[in-house]
Amino acid sequence: MIKFKICLLFVLLNLICTQWLFAQKIIDLSPTSARLYRDMAVLASDSLEGREAGTLSERKAADYIAKQMQSIGLLPKGGHEGSYLSAFRINFPVIFKEAKLRINSIDFKHKDEFGATDLSSAGTVEGELIKIGNSFNFIEPNALNNNQINGKIVLLDIASKVKLTENEAITNEIVSKVKAVVESGAIGVILYNSSRKTTEDVLFGSPFTESVGVPVVYIARLPFNKIRKVKSGTCSLTVEINRTVSKPENVIGWIDNKSDKTVVIGAHFDHVGITRSRTGDDKSLQIHNGADDNASGTTTLLELARWAANNETLKYNYIFAAFSAEEKGLFGSKAFCSRAWVNNQNIAYMLNLDMVGRLGCQGDTISALGVASSEVWENVLDKLEHPDFSVKKINGAPPFSDHSPFLKKNIPIMYFTTGLHPDYHTPNDDIEFINFKGMEEILAYIRQFIRSAEALPEIPFHNINPIQQTKAYLQTF
Ligand SMILES: [Zn+2]
Repeated sequence: MIKFKICLLFVLLNLICTQWLFAQKIIDLSPTSARLYRDMAVLASDSLEGREAGTLSERKAADYIAKQMQSIGLLPKGGHEGSYLSAFRINFPVIFKEAKLRINSIDFKHKDEFGATDLSSAGTVEGELIKIGNSFNFIEPNALNNNQINGKIVLLDIASKVKLTENEAITNEIVSKVKAVVESGAIGVILYNSSRKTTEDVLFGSPFTESVGVPVVYIARLPFNKIRKVKSGTCSLTVEINRTVSKPENVIGWIDNKSDKTVVIGAHFDHVGITRSRTGDDKSLQIHNGADDNASGTTTLLELARWAANNETLKYNYIFAAFSAEEKGLFGSKAFCSRAWVNNQNIAYMLNLDMVGRLGCQGDTISALGVASSEVWENVLDKLEHPDFSVKKINGAPPFSDHSPFLKKNIPIMYFTTGLHPDYHTPNDDIEFINFKGMEEILAYIRQFIRSAEALPEIPFHNINPIQQTKAYLQTF
């Protein structure tokens, strides 16, 4: 009993202490920083368990953001009338179970020698094998001889001439090759790589979440040597997969200034959830709070909305989009961009905020990426004041954040970030390492950017070429 009382006293003291510390933190901060801190303390808290898309924690984060949007006075622009939430479907998680592969009576060991890819469906197939080498022409529509492939299992070379740095381009190439053979009637696909140059990593992980409808496996390079000379024969292939469909939600509100031009300001609010750290010796499951990635962008987005909602001098309409499932493959922004009205006639530009909370981690510098996506951006950036930090202008934009689907729809983009740091995607991406004063300085800079963009007669789109894209990719890492 005494023990219980002491315990209770300790809990109470602890509670008072934390409240006092929290209050102290808030008192020390300016009103803007205090709001940023308050929103981040919720989004990046352990109780939100790292906001993984499709989980209850992501739902809680979405509800919090929606409530903020409502109190700011944004109009709801979600999936249903009167709602800020806009759900979309993803095939996640994909859980691989067993897989079996036998080619001409040679068995391959699951996981050691081959594995199912995310493109695969579940099922067992047996049949004739046909090998399709890298010289095969997939671009010419008639290049694939349907009769040759129909009803067979295809052994398909995925060697690529695309540079290693362009992961997305390699991924797209593989997906289109697989789809081409499946459309020609292949009942199963076995991928191999005849080149030493191409990475194998792109095959596993989040990029593919939609099944192509037949089993698709990958044989690693060394075991492939066992059948290197095989051109035909027989094959049996079994893949067991559990695909769970989940429904993450974007949170979208807007300011309707009755303009024919609309700006999309976007930031993803999801993170990687409870997982093993990519660094360090501790390989247990840990909460990844994602304070910088990307509670920082989300809280900045809300603060910009507070400013824009009370600013009668702004002319354009502003959509504030908190995207989900970015970490799983930009699915929230892709879902948003799949709507027909999201085009370069209606959307003046897209402003992406991803990781803006660590000013100082790469010196007092922020990066402005996607400068080449409109010929006007360089001049706009040159005229903005930023007494507290320097701005690194980068023409290209890397393919791995939410601006990417907008670029594909020929919409000019601007992506601000304070850059990568060793705590990126680790359990140390926590609120105590956030530079709130820096976030305020960046907010002031972005407000100027938004006003300057409104003063332009036009923001013409310019395609970012692959070299610029690759450079941006390299500079971000
Ligand atoms: Zn991010």
